[in-house]
Amino acid sequence: MPAVTQSYKSGNQLSAKSVLTWRIIQASVWVVGLVIFLSLIFYPSLGLLLFWNILIPVAPALFVVAVGIWRNVCPLATTNLLPRHFNLSKRKKMSITLQSKLQLVAILSLYFIVPLRHAILNRNGLATASLLTIAGITGFVMSFIFDWKSSWCSTLCPIHPVEKLYGGKTLVSMPNAHCEECVNCSLPCPDSTPSFHPSMAQKTIYHKIGGILTIGGLPGFIWGWFHVPDQLEITNWYNFFATYQLPLIGLVTSAAIYLFLQLFLKGKNERTLINIFAASGVSCYYWYRLPALFGFGSFADDGLLINLKNVLPSWSIIAITIATTLFFFWWIVLRKTKQKSWVVRPEYAAKHTSIDSQSFA
Ligand code: SF4
Repeated sequence: MPAVTQSYKSGNQLSAKSVLTWRIIQASVWVVGLVIFLSLIFYPSLGLLLFWNILIPVAPALFVVAVGIWRNVCPLATTNLLPRHFNLSKRKKMSITLQSKLQLVAILSLYFIVPLRHAILNRNGLATASLLTIAGITGFVMSFIFDWKSSWCSTLCPIHPVEKLYGGKTLVSMPNAHCEECVNCSLPCPDSTPSFHPSMAQKTIYHKIGGILTIGGLPGFIWGWFHVPDQLEITNWYNFFATYQLPLIGLVTSAAIYLFLQLFLKGKNERTLINIFAASGVSCYYWYRLPALFGFGSFADDGLLINLKNVLPSWSIIAITIATTLFFFWWIVLRKTKQKSWVVRPEYAAKHTSIDSQSFA
């Protein structure tokens, strides 16, 4: 398909006042992130509660409704993009092949890291802080080399595959509070491409494998993950690998179902299939996560925020989980909406050609 050229008016450029407002918001959220990070080290009980039982449970719903907000204010992104904001980056253009390889690394990292929560991260503040430190240093160093979000946010970030799967029907296109001009650093740009999904790029085998692992694998992985309790003590390798067993069985099973259904569905129907898998993933997450947060979980106090078991009747939590499931299927699968991007693409830098994402399919 030929490249589609689209001109953008200078109206897409943020005013100085808007930039200042976004910098204040980003700095405020960054400070909140720093407080959580320091709590993980010095007050681990509080840090673990804030990070795993408040911030992380809110994230999937935010990705579904308005992922652009998170893309603008994520504290890790704010940190990692500092070299680019301060003109310290070499601004290298990353090849499409390397982008696709790093995106594959991102989804594999997600599947490696999340079971570690049962093994150690959920109960060890220092381990969680170390993980965030590794992510921060990696993205920060990458930003000295590569341009804008190709350095981390749209390639290596392990959360990014989840954003891509859940964020296909965003409510609003936010202003782009990071990129001053678009230099086509990410192709296709997940932020600026309307109705983006993980299978949109098909240029390389790494794109294709990453797309299948994300769309097909995530719902089953989530289901399997919620059937594993937190390990109080990992005494041997068998216990360690046991935390991966059910998530991986779920991943392989749902990916196989996805591949099978994909054989019969093409074009618009294929997009509906992707939406169904996205809705299944996020619904499955809250189906198990909400009861655990409020004391109705399967494994004692795993993932507990506040115990309401003696306050709320058990039917109420069932009603809430059914309501969230219905909401996500309506929002992602049934709701008719105009195609929107997560954020508005800023004006192209003069020497960069505007390229529509379709040319990467
Ligand atoms: S808007 Fe342009 S510069 Fe910014 S991340 Fe997307 S492709 Fe890169």
